[in-house]
Amino acid sequence: MKAMEQYWNPILETLPREQLQKLQFKKFHNIFKWAYEHSKFYYKLYSDAGIEPGDIRTFDDIRKVPKVEKSMLRAIQGKEPYPYGDILCVPLEQVTEYHQTTGTTGQPVFQADTWQDWEWCAESWAYILYAQGYRNRDRVFLPFGYSTAIAFWQAHYASEKIGCEVIPGGVLNTEARILKMQELRATALMATPTYVLGMADVARRKLGIDPAKDLQIKKITVAGEPGGSIPATKKRMEEAWGAKVYDHVGATEIGAWSFECTYQSGLHTNDALFLVEIEDTDTGELITEPGRKGKMVITAFDRIAQPCIRFDSKDIIEWSPDKCQCGRTFRLIKGGVIGRADDITKVKGVLLAPTSIEEVVRSIPELGDEYEVLVAKKGDIDDITLKVELLPGQESKTDLVKTKLTDQLRLKTSLGYNLEFHKYNTLPRYDVKSKRFKDLRHKE
Ligand SMILES: [Zn+2]
Repeated sequence: MKAMEQYWNPILETLPREQLQKLQFKKFHNIFKWAYEHSKFYYKLYSDAGIEPGDIRTFDDIRKVPKVEKSMLRAIQGKEPYPYGDILCVPLEQVTEYHQTTGTTGQPVFQADTWQDWEWCAESWAYILYAQGYRNRDRVFLPFGYSTAIAFWQAHYASEKIGCEVIPGGVLNTEARILKMQELRATALMATPTYVLGMADVARRKLGIDPAKDLQIKKITVAGEPGGSIPATKKRMEEAWGAKVYDHVGATEIGAWSFECTYQSGLHTNDALFLVEIEDTDTGELITEPGRKGKMVITAFDRIAQPCIRFDSKDIIEWSPDKCQCGRTFRLIKGGVIGRADDITKVKGVLLAPTSIEEVVRSIPELGDEYEVLVAKKGDIDDITLKVELLPGQESKTDLVKTKLTDQLRLKTSLGYNLEFHKYNTLPRYDVKSKRFKDLRHKE
């Protein structure tokens, strides 16, 4: 029996699976009925499909409920009630929070929340931070201006809810943020993997500060990019900071649906607040067993202003065969979000997940953190170029690194690459989210 103080919600996090599923069904039914009765968008979607709350009698009936896609949300956006459209289930007077998606492609999706939703958002993040060992003695540094992005606002409120002290590090530049963390002896940090590595690099090169020795950061929560679940990237971050790195994946429209705990066995899905389903991308068949990749379809049970019901997230995930030592009954997914159904592109007929390239590059110690992948068409043939940087002093090892890269890339991705070696610190650096994978084939 595990000590109960490790859980934010000891009852829900250890509920036997059978009871958890009963709870999920009840909660699904509630949010489905709520949306059917309060949102014109959902009412039309469900009426057109000939389904109403009375038709959802068993857990398996959930599969009959039509899915929602981002393009559908974009299509109603800008209409009344402005700017969210008729998905809204509450009067505009009850909306207290505005956020928007941060994706790099397409029009952002607007997200409305009521104050009740916002408290729920903080609650869902409290599960994450508590599971990662955040407690009321922690001093948490958030090195961003969060603007209209939702994740770090939620993290901020959740930290306060747990009782941590929060230092918002927006406006400051990278050097000033590092010095502030040092001055205030911050114990925890949240950022994207790109920025966690970027800050460590700036600390060493420009300030002569070694984050692992000179700062007191003991845990780092990463989000926004897959790096936290890529072993080689995680190792680099942990070594650079002398801290434990924990992954979290969430999305603006859905919420904070997964987290890694201190045992670092993979991402737990928060099964008390969300229903995570995995579907075969070709057949649409439900995947419940480990080891098969599929597309995530997700429902947030308790968010009422703009509900997210059977949202087709396009995220590719798979169930893990492992059981976590922490004793939570929440399921585990393996390797985080492996990619998106949209951008796991076919190159030379082979499915390529950009995360596999990152895993290879960052597992080679002679290489720096940065890299860039360009996929282009040469005649009818796809052509992939991988640009990497050798660390200072490693230039004589170019041939050795070339062999390692070629072999490992062939093994992990079944593809051949043109390799380009660049001088250290010459590839583009990114502050928050990176754009290291560039598919140029569709641009005419
Ligand atoms: Zn665990």
